[in-house]
Amino acid sequence: MDADGEPSLLAELTGAAEHPGSRINHILVVDDDAPLRRSLPHLLAAPGRHFDLAASLAEAIESLSRRHYDLILLDHCLPDGSGLGLLDWRAEHQRSDAVVMLSGDDGIDIAIGALRRGADDFLRKPYHLAQLQHTVDKALHKAGLERTNRRIGLRLKESERLYRYLVESSPDIIFMLDPHGRFRYLNPRAQSLLGYDHQQLLGREIAEIADEEDRPRLEALYGNPEQPSRQARRLELKLQRNPAGPAGKADVLTFSLSTEPVFGRDTRDGSRRLIGTYGVARDISDRKRAEDVIIYQAYHDQLTRLPNRLLFHDRLELALAHAQRRNSALAVLFIDLDRFKLVNDTYGHSEGDHLLRGVASRLRQSLRKGDTLARVGGDEFVALLPDLASPDDAEGIAIKILQTLHEPFRLKHGDFRVTVSVGIAVYPKDGEVADLLIQHADIAMYQVKRSGKNGYCFFGPELNANYRQRVCLENDLRRALERDEFRLCFQPQIDIRRRRVVGAEALLRWRHPDHGLLNPVEFVDVAEEIGLIGGISNWVLDRACAQLARWRRMGHADVRMSVNLSPRDFEHGDVVGEVSRRLANYRLPAHALDLEITEHLMMREGHAGAEKIAQLRQIGVGIAIDDFGTGYSALGYLQRFPISSLKIDRSFVSEMKPDGNPIVSAITGIARGFGLGVVAEGVETPEQLDQLAALGCNAMQGFYFSPPASAEEVEALFREVPSDWFPDQVVQ
Ligand code: C2E
Ligand code: MG
Ligand code: MG
Repeated sequence: MDADGEPSLLAELTGAAEHPGSRINHILVVDDDAPLRRSLPHLLAAPGRHFDLAASLAEAIESLSRRHYDLILLDHCLPDGSGLGLLDWRAEHQRSDAVVMLSGDDGIDIAIGALRRGADDFLRKPYHLAQLQHTVDKALHKAGLERTNRRIGLRLKESERLYRYLVESSPDIIFMLDPHGRFRYLNPRAQSLLGYDHQQLLGREIAEIADEEDRPRLEALYGNPEQPSRQARRLELKLQRNPAGPAGKADVLTFSLSTEPVFGRDTRDGSRRLIGTYGVARDISDRKRAEDVIIYQAYHDQLTRLPNRLLFHDRLELALAHAQRRNSALAVLFIDLDRFKLVNDTYGHSEGDHLLRGVASRLRQSLRKGDTLARVGGDEFVALLPDLASPDDAEGIAIKILQTLHEPFRLKHGDFRVTVSVGIAVYPKDGEVADLLIQHADIAMYQVKRSGKNGYCFFGPELNANYRQRVCLENDLRRALERDEFRLCFQPQIDIRRRRVVGAEALLRWRHPDHGLLNPVEFVDVAEEIGLIGGISNWVLDRACAQLARWRRMGHADVRMSVNLSPRDFEHGDVVGEVSRRLANYRLPAHALDLEITEHLMMREGHAGAEKIAQLRQIGVGIAIDDFGTGYSALGYLQRFPISSLKIDRSFVSEMKPDGNPIVSAITGIARGFGLGVVAEGVETPEQLDQLAALGCNAMQGFYFSPPASAEEVEALFREVPSDWFPDQVVQ
């Protein structure tokens, strides 16, 4: 029984529905013979039987109108009509009450008439009690069966309605295929998802609407009645939407498909055979799209949309396997932008990104169709050139790459020319596995950087040594601070009008345990690249301030100190805090300190460095532009930044002709115009001294006076300068 007290469908189907005695049987006795009418209930009494009595047709109809009877014992001859009349009434009212007709009449006609009118049995009077009881039992049993049957029919109909509802309102496509893979049934979801009319799909093979690449698989699985698939399956497939459907455009949806074969009995020989395939197809297109995006992101660089290191590695592995089989060659190009850091530092990251995208697009254009270009680091790209006819092909591509970058890139601040250093490693000569080839191409690229950038170079075993040197340098540099290997030397700065050494520039040296004394050109770039410059700058600042304080204590109260800082110090560090702390620690007046920075820092608008420079100037620290004139030609920044002096680069000083140098006079003119101090660097000859003095540049430094020297040597020069420094003619 289920919750409503109704027998469950299963119980009904298995026949366990009607338990004897579990239900009351209502029996109507219709007879005008009163003794007989009254005796029948006694004769037929049994548990669960309940009798009503009627003496006439009218009474019987009245009882029947009130309720349904399981059985009517109906006398043929009634005072107000024939029992057959009741049978007619029953038919007319579509009643299903079972009837056993009782008649004293011998004629066969009555029996036939009764049975034709739907009576269940006929019993002729007089009858044996046993005969009556048997007939009644049989009729009741039959009525019970019919009742059960009717109920099952009703419930089946109801459950079919339920299942149909479930199938038809399913969010998935539910279908049935015949053994040839043709649709025999499809729920309405197929129509709304795929855009076909129901009729357009019925009878068509599922393979027909599948994406091309899925067709052979579907035909093999579902379209071959000779070798039907006998297993339940789960597969992913793409189905095409109706191009003429309401969506208007043909596209493809991805489904997760579960199918199960359906078997039936052959009516001829009773054998089990496949009658079709039942399937459920769930639309997983959205999930697939999301997955695709995730996969794309995992394998691509967001900025340039090029493959990333991971995908490059995959492709390289594949190409290597291929090259191995075919005995062919391939090349890996490592491409690094020269001085890209500068662009980022100077113009800001968004301009840097813009440039990278531009470079990526030009690089791609210079490659062939089957080549792969990937971005593997900030300004690093790698290219895979599979199927090389000869290593010269790789050279050709490298040259093309250099050429394609010749045309300047348009940035907000003006045109910018990019150069790259390209290292080439060739399989199998330079390595047989992916990592080694990439590493060797990288090493070859470093060789280009070392020998002036903007070029290409093939890997060779000898380059390994250089590379190792560089790696060693990095490692040594990381430990140099804690091992106290840095030193400062000082180059005096002379005021030729006052004929005095008025200050010094602190210049960094690295006393390397194996390589001896190294100049900044040999390690400052590396320190910037690997993020060590901040610590080094702080060390330099500290030592230079300490030295200045010492000199001042020794009585040289008005000397100044120049300290070189890196653009990175302004970008990342708390340069204002670091400087102010030292000034306070060593009790130095701010005006005794000059910070030298290169022009690149100035070029960047909205740069945090601008704010820091302003703050430093506010507290009185001098800001000098080092190597002035070698960077960018835009001079607008001189107006925006509160700079205090310019340093004329020594390349301009060394190129001065006896009749002067237009650049040097321009720089002194600019300095005068902006009210800035000017210091000439790299003065090596008395002629240069003369010419600079004639242009009004009185502050100088250079080998003519002194190379960078120890603090003691400089201190001696504070006290007294050599008499031959100032030939008589320059003294005014
Ligand atoms: P700079 O600031 O322009 O320094 C002047 C460079 O020119 C020094 O080279 C100096 O030795 C050299 N020099 C001076 N007078 C003459 C001359 O008459 N003739 C010639 N040929 N050269 C002369 P140095 O010390 O090797 O420094 C090179 C560059 O390294 C410096 O150029 C500066 O940009 C950087 N640097 C030096 N010390 C530091 C430091 O502490 N921190 C940072 N970030 N950079 C530093
Ligand atoms: Mg300097
Ligand atoms: Mg300089």
